[in-house]
Amino acid sequence: MLKINDMNVYYGAIHALKGISLEINEGEIVTLIGANGAGKSTTLRTISGLLKPKTGTIEFEGKNIAGMPAQNIVKAGISQVPEGRRVFAEMTVMENLELGAFIRKDKAGIAKDLKMVFERFPRLEERVNQQAGTLSGGEQQMLAMGRALMSRPRLLLLDEPSMGLAPLLIREIFSIIQDINKAGTTVLLVEQNANMALSIANRAYVLETGRITLSGDAKELAASEEVRKAYLGG
Ligand code: ATP
Repeated sequence: MLKINDMNVYYGAIHALKGISLEINEGEIVTLIGANGAGKSTTLRTISGLLKPKTGTIEFEGKNIAGMPAQNIVKAGISQVPEGRRVFAEMTVMENLELGAFIRKDKAGIAKDLKMVFERFPRLEERVNQQAGTLSGGEQQMLAMGRALMSRPRLLLLDEPSMGLAPLLIREIFSIIQDINKAGTTVLLVEQNANMALSIANRAYVLETGRITLSGDAKELAASEEVRKAYLGG
């Protein structure tokens, strides 16, 4: 479904991604793990069109989307839930969700997806008129995910959904990610919480200072000595 080949990304003179190649098959949950600053967010931001790669290709369903405007990438079927769950704080929950559907015109489809989002996140339905900035951290994460789902993506990019959340809530969010995947959305998950990410992923890539150093079956990686030592706390 998504195939990145030899991608290089720079921030000015800083060479953030150094020849990354990776693949995501339809229906999978793939996770990208690695230490702070390894380039995980940069990878997601490049896929979603917020950054342009200097070289390399990003094929999505057979079409090269590298360097395309972000809005066209959403139209193509990819949606990102940004790190730090950036919601529009001054707007209501409903307005945030409506914005997620801004590229769509099919009113009936939008209404159906709104219903689906409320079924997945009942707490959002209870708070439709609340200002997004006054939601709790977990609720803002749910809203950011709900907003991304409103574009009806085939590939969902999640940047650190567990960040700053209590363990119980992390479990809830991860279970929702699995449900979303089971309902047919392919997922690329970036996480510092490698344990949790590997527990729900099919496959994983390990990123170290801009390069992919390991990849494979998530369960095998979770069992490997090297990964345990570096990312899973021994
Ligand atoms: P974290 O888990 O801490 O979010 P990450 O793996 O997502 O880390 P990135 O945010 O992708 O890492 O950063 C990769 C590298 O690029 C880091 O060295 C970072 O300092 C650098 N970088 C990120 N954003 C910028 C920017 N806007 N300008 C310059 N350098 C940047």
